[in-house]
Amino acid sequence: MSIHQRLLETPLDQLLADARTIRDRQFGSRVTYSPKVFIPLTMLCRDKCGYCTFAQPPARLENPYLSADQVLAIAKQGAKSGCHEALFTLGERPELRYDVAAEWLKANGFDSTVHYLHDMAALVLKETGLLPHANAGALYKDELAMLRRVSPSQGMMIESLRDDLDCHRGAPDKVPQRRLDTLEWAGELKIPFTTGILVGIGETREDRINALEAIAASHARHGHVQEVIVQNFLPKPRTGMQHEAPCPQDEYLWSIATARIILPPSIHLQAPPNLSDDFGILLDAGIDDWGGVSPITADHVNPERPWPALDKLRVVTEERGKALAPRLTIYPEFAINPTVWVEDALHFPIQDRSDAEGLGRDDPGQVWPEKVTAADVVLDGAEVVLIGHRSTQWYSGANNPPPSLIGTQHDGTPFNEVDVDQLRGPIAEILQGVRLGQRINEAEIVTLFSARGKEVRAIAKVADDLRKQVVGDAITWVHNRNINYTNVCTFKCKFCGFSKGPLSLNLRGTPYLLTLDDIANRAREAWDLGATEVTLQGGIHPDFDGDYYIDVTRAVKDAVPEMHVHGFTALEVTEGAKRLGEPLYNYIMRLKEAGLASLPGTAAEILDDDIRAILCPDKINTEEWLECHQVAHEAGLRSNITIMFGSVEHPLSWAKHIVRTRALQAQTGGFTEFVGLPFVHMASPIYLQHKSRRGPTFRETLLMHAIARIAYHGLIDNIQVSWTKIGPIGAAQLLQAGCNDMGGTLMNENISRAAGASHGQGMTEDAFRAIAQPIGRSLLQRNTTYGRPDREPARKGAVLTS
Ligand code: SF4
Repeated sequence: MSIHQRLLETPLDQLLADARTIRDRQFGSRVTYSPKVFIPLTMLCRDKCGYCTFAQPPARLENPYLSADQVLAIAKQGAKSGCHEALFTLGERPELRYDVAAEWLKANGFDSTVHYLHDMAALVLKETGLLPHANAGALYKDELAMLRRVSPSQGMMIESLRDDLDCHRGAPDKVPQRRLDTLEWAGELKIPFTTGILVGIGETREDRINALEAIAASHARHGHVQEVIVQNFLPKPRTGMQHEAPCPQDEYLWSIATARIILPPSIHLQAPPNLSDDFGILLDAGIDDWGGVSPITADHVNPERPWPALDKLRVVTEERGKALAPRLTIYPEFAINPTVWVEDALHFPIQDRSDAEGLGRDDPGQVWPEKVTAADVVLDGAEVVLIGHRSTQWYSGANNPPPSLIGTQHDGTPFNEVDVDQLRGPIAEILQGVRLGQRINEAEIVTLFSARGKEVRAIAKVADDLRKQVVGDAITWVHNRNINYTNVCTFKCKFCGFSKGPLSLNLRGTPYLLTLDDIANRAREAWDLGATEVTLQGGIHPDFDGDYYIDVTRAVKDAVPEMHVHGFTALEVTEGAKRLGEPLYNYIMRLKEAGLASLPGTAAEILDDDIRAILCPDKINTEEWLECHQVAHEAGLRSNITIMFGSVEHPLSWAKHIVRTRALQAQTGGFTEFVGLPFVHMASPIYLQHKSRRGPTFRETLLMHAIARIAYHGLIDNIQVSWTKIGPIGAAQLLQAGCNDMGGTLMNENISRAAGASHGQGMTEDAFRAIAQPIGRSLLQRNTTYGRPDREPARKGAVLTS
């Protein structure tokens, strides 16, 4: 039986089930939508289609085109409402039909509607950061190429390949070959492309199959079709087809399922939810995308409240066991491979709105292009300050509050308890395995990082249960002080806003180097204030040899013999040994004899050498970091694991990092805790050079900690929140998602501050308690290795500010 015959003869229920299976195998539980604003650049069109209400004659319009000011006003409204996409909708070549359009273009200096579209898309991108999607109909190759410079994706519905449809009789641009040529040229130009078919405009089932096969064939040649829209015909008043019957539901569902079966599984399938009363059934037919959802509704008064339409979409999606995720106009498969699919100038605008999977950042709030100027006073803080429109989304290190992902919703009501056994899909299966005691592997870790909505709450719940089982309810903290002895560094880590070159090199900011007396005094001050630990970290000064680190350790121990010296990253230790030409083990033993008690896990960044080649090419590699900690553990020193996440890497790198460090822990048992360090972007050089994302989203941050609790279960008992980067409100959520430790009081934190963080330089016991108490948890002071501190607190609550 041919595929055509099979599709035509298979009972609808069976066809729908087949389509769902293909969709679920390819996309799991994820269903996407694009938060977008519509910009109707011109409602004039040279075509007359029998079903169209969009096109208007000039007499009904005040102006033939929206002005630049009008375009920008709409786009800004969209940006303020949290959109990612500016969808330019317009009629086709109106200047060829209406003099008024041709004259307007001429008077404003444009050769054609497409040229005007190009300039308006560029304007919107520059001023608002919204990503344009050009939907300009059948275009010629040079026009598609011109729009590729300003629009990360483009679209044109094939509609139908029948050339004798009544509804297209007055539409020269609907000639099938014109549409097919446009689709083909878009492929040749490597344009991520959206196309689709209309159902119920006079075509037959065979016609739809032919159109879908033509789309699949073009995609097979170029790989450029990112999504196919299957849209149902509805009669509208004052159109040529107003008396025609709407597309019957079964016919529509058959067409969606057929599209899912004919098209390659990697092509996303969309059906617009607003054209069906009971739109949940569209999911039953195999779609994985709802298309554009515009949050700009009549209620602009309470923009912080969830959008009703979106809420309904989420409920309907979750009722069918799916999870909703916002996407960009360009789909992730194309966004994460920009060198092939996008103009160089668009790489950063896409990255700037992306999460780690290449989907749209999903924290609520506005995202504006960040503009900076040099700070008047730098001292040990950031060297740039933000100017212009402020983004209101949560960012690591910024003061914007995070969304409530667990615990309590925005309106104060608690989230419903998630019953993990009731969840469906790959994430549910992994969590069920975890509850049976299975250890998750690299691929499963990547899958968990794709969680959304209820799935996030389910992961947090499983992690929280494990936390309770392993370490109980107490939230621990350590009274410590950071001593960053120098900010001069010969390394050039691209994310580091802290390091300065030597003065002679006249690089950024004011370099400093504390004397051994300064360091000893700071240690004494810290002891007097009740600290049990000093954390020593700094740049790699060109004048240091390995003995410097030994001298620093001695200076602290001579000043305060009881102080726990937690110091020197794997880079400092490896570099110290290298500069002395001494075997690593000998060198670490000498540090230990001088009084070093444990190593911080920083300098790990991401333990994936492909990513290190971007972030810190001259630094130690993954093997060297792991080796240093292995040797330290052999020498009897404890250390911890950190991960700096959210800059350029994707979840696979996170999974590799977790699995590699877990393997070492299984071997040595020397790590005391895992510390997630979300990348702070604001003043980071790599962000200022437009080469990274804006750090992780809050969902990613929460998942990093919860998944770490699950992945390291049985090997590492303590998962720490970095309050300098996450802030107290976010910390409270993470402490309900697997974390049990708040880290240190720090007193003089300035590495995060140099990258632009603004959560303060020190914490007190009372401030920690203010986080713990509202979530019903006790607070417990610890020493560095998670024992009880063997000294009485000194002056409680004191904070150093300089
Ligand atoms: S991260 Fe450390 S090694 Fe890298 S530049 Fe900054 S101070 Fe230097």
